Amino acid sequence: PGDPLNIVAVTCHRAPDAPRLGAVPGLPDDAYEHDGQLTKRHIRAVTLSTLAPAPGELLWDIGGGSGSIAIEWMRTHPSCRAITIERDPVRAARITRNAERLGVPGLRVVTGAAPAALAELPAPDAVFVGGGLTAPGLLDACWEALPAGGRLVANTVTLESEALLADARRRHGGELVRLAVAHAVPVGGFTGWRQAMPVTQWAVQK
Ligand code: SAH
Repeated sequence: PGDPLNIVAVTCHRAPDAPRLGAVPGLPDDAYEHDGQLTKRHIRAVTLSTLAPAPGELLWDIGGGSGSIAIEWMRTHPSCRAITIERDPVRAARITRNAERLGVPGLRVVTGAAPAALAELPAPDAVFVGGGLTAPGLLDACWEALPAGGRLVANTVTLESEALLADARRRHGGELVRLAVAHAVPVGGFTGWRQAMPVTQWAVQK
């Protein structure tokens, strides 16, 4: 009491093999419980930088998967809020566990299919689409929900969804990029590149 600095010493103990969780997006993939439906680390780092969270903002994370985009959005500032929409109830429960384990228990998880599940949600400052791009009306519903100045980022690995993103860019502008990451893996006694599926990303500001 009366100490204006109120300094507290904290000692953190973590298992030596536990992933190190830095302050910046792009946490290691094994920081998450997942079933393979996870935006991988390097793509995730670029995606969060493009979403550009600012304090107090609300994200819709559509096709939540393991929840990594919403979780890392919320980790950037205590006032950042996110709603993740995931149609698979097993994955939705996993998102809640990941959010609790990674320090953002306030993440709201909606179990349901977009675009129908978006109808009653509070308006977002930014929208990320990581699944459900081919659901009829999804991109239009996201665009409608965004205020002027809001950001939309969508990632896909399929040609069918890529065609939708190319069409959306024709109508709304923005930037299409293709991100291709390769990891060095053993090839016999040597080392070679294993190429992950390239990710097409559309990013636009309304
Ligand atoms: N960005 C996520 C991975 C997304 S995987 C992460 O980093 O963890 C795509 C997810 O979208 C899957 O879990 C799938 O169940 C979900 N999905 C597909 N169509 C959907 C829809 N119309 N509404 C809600 N979720 C959907």
